Amino acid sequence: MKVLTTALVALTIIAPTIASAETCTTQETFGVIIHGGTARAGNVPEERLSFMREILTDARADLDRGAEALDVVEMLVANMEDSGLFNAGKAAINNAGGFVETDASIMDGKTMEAGSVASMKLVRNPIKAARLVMDETRHVMMVGDRGETAVTSLGAETVEAEYFVNNKHHDEPEKHGTVGAAVLDRCGNLAAGTSTGGYDAKIPGRVGDSPVIGAGTYAKNGVMAASATGHGEFFIRFTATRSIAARMEYGGLSVGDAAQAAIDEMAAAGSDGDGRGGLIAIDAEGNFAMPFSSEGMVRGITSNTQTPVAGAFGNME
Ligand code: ASP
Repeated sequence: MKVLTTALVALTIIAPTIASAETCTTQETFGVIIHGGTARAGNVPEERLSFMREILTDARADLDRGAEALDVVEMLVANMEDSGLFNAGKAAINNAGGFVETDASIMDGKTMEAGSVASMKLVRNPIKAARLVMDETRHVMMVGDRGETAVTSLGAETVEAEYFVNNKHHDEPEKHGTVGAAVLDRCGNLAAGTSTGGYDAKIPGRVGDSPVIGAGTYAKNGVMAASATGHGEFFIRFTATRSIAARMEYGGLSVGDAAQAAIDEMAAAGSDGDGRGGLIAIDAEGNFAMPFSSEGMVRGITSNTQTPVAGAFGNME
């Protein structure tokens, strides 16, 4: 059982870190890749990138101490949900009905267990609710009002509707985005998680790829862990993250070639800019992939040899 402590980081955001876990120290190599959704040119506040560097710094220290990939994924995604900077958790966008419905999932590549929630209205941290579904039930997905009642009874924290501050982002041309993380720990375990408020003016009740295992999130030890952002309907139909693993397992592709092929396939299938988005992935050796067919993707990495860097377009610094 992990124990969370609090630490004050930039932007006066309280960021939980993992204090106790020291179980994974069998190898030197570890790696972390995160994303904060697709980006349009000129539309990425520096505070998003600096926040990502902050939480990557925490994750790097945690993994160096031996924290487990699954706990680090949950911590990173929960931090981004709480930050108010991304379309997830606190700053999730409204749907076409004028209210928030959030989706999230988490997967443990060691056990192939997964948990997922969709169309949550008042859950503060959908990624934590997804973890509860994985840990505390015999199910994978819990959805809608009855799913929300169930995860609340398991201990998921709820908030008032006013908690969601999406009106701060109404001046932005894009009305989508997502957060996600994929981690390799020092045991060699892989895990991934994804959380979102969904896609442009979605119809109430619409569920995207983020909570769908194999579409928005996938992890399998010995192969890779991945999280997606973009036009969710395509990522569901093309089983985007699972298709990376399949290309690697059955086709012998590298994680970079496999992730690029998944992105290219969806972009080719979409007309008028449909089917666009991005993927982050890490393989069992710690190699990263981060292809995107959108103008940009807000993303960051760190590893045992790489200090935290983040960027939205060509460069990361
Ligand atoms: N993939 C998310 C969804 O379709 C949105 C996004 O990543 O921009 O719900």
